[in-house]
Amino acid sequence: MDVVFVGLGNMGSGMAANLIKAGLNVRAVDPSEVARLKAKAYGAQVFDNLASAVEGACAMITMLPSGREVREMAHILAQNPMDGFLWIDCSTIDVETARETHQVMAALGVDFVDAPVSGGVAAANEGRLTFMVGGAEPAFKRASHYLAKMGVAIIHAGGEGAGQAAKICNNMLLAITMIGTCEAFGLARRLGLEDQTFFDIATNASGQNWALSSYCPVAGPVPSAPSNRDYEGGFASSLMLKDLGLAMQAVAQTDAHTPMGAKAHTLYETLVLAGHGMKDFSFMMNRIERGV
Ligand code: NAD
Repeated sequence: MDVVFVGLGNMGSGMAANLIKAGLNVRAVDPSEVARLKAKAYGAQVFDNLASAVEGACAMITMLPSGREVREMAHILAQNPMDGFLWIDCSTIDVETARETHQVMAALGVDFVDAPVSGGVAAANEGRLTFMVGGAEPAFKRASHYLAKMGVAIIHAGGEGAGQAAKICNNMLLAITMIGTCEAFGLARRLGLEDQTFFDIATNASGQNWALSSYCPVAGPVPSAPSNRDYEGGFASSLMLKDLGLAMQAVAQTDAHTPMGAKAHTLYETLVLAGHGMKDFSFMMNRIERGV
């Protein structure tokens, strides 16, 4: 049976290509001509609109920019008989929209899961994504069949919206640890420590964290980190700002207390407004060091 893939951009194109490699028939929907041509080239069948693409298909995967487009898709599905259909939304969106979509889809008899990803474009291309999934157990089981073809870890986070909740909490923590790591390198330098020396000590001491040991924001200690390539590639600061914005939206709705998360949001906003949105999020090192 065919699967519909909506949103074949930076992430979605590699994910859809991996479904095709695994033997599935993929029906592609995307308004971008570039995305459509690329999808055709790797074997997808391109459709002009979602309504015709879902006809006779058994499942749909979406990888869209925001909750607005996800609501658009829900609206279109609601105009069609969809009983028994499966929708896996891998976009990073706000928890509220994810929860609303669960309810709208349940009323239509559609199995829906929110399944945002951890891992960037390289992981999407190579089928190495981590999926954090929110939804009922039967829908999770059905979705896992598809997710296993695009990723290496599929984690059931809980019920409606739990995948999006896990994603934004994880990325808020990542932003905070990245900023803290940059500040520690900045102070260590001023106190006369070499970057490598501080790295060797902190990775073996209680300052150890992923932003330091796997994604070091100063060039040298971790050769694969974007800091060695002038902060090109990796996870764009603008995407980190988007995720922090979703976290702050959830904070406002839940009355959670996140002073560090709020500060991280402000710092990434400043970085992006200064024109560095396309730089990897570890570019924060330059802001902390030189105020660029
Ligand atoms: P992108 O902008 O490259 O791709 C989005 C695609 O959706 C585009 O091709 C666009 O034409 C298409 N689109 C927009 N509106 C549409 C509509 N109404 N109908 C059909 N298609 C539509 O974005 P991306 O980098 O691939 O990110 C997609 C999602 O993945 C986002 O939610 C992002 O936060 C999340 N994400 C991205 C990364 C990353 O490193 N890029 C990592 C993790 C999560």
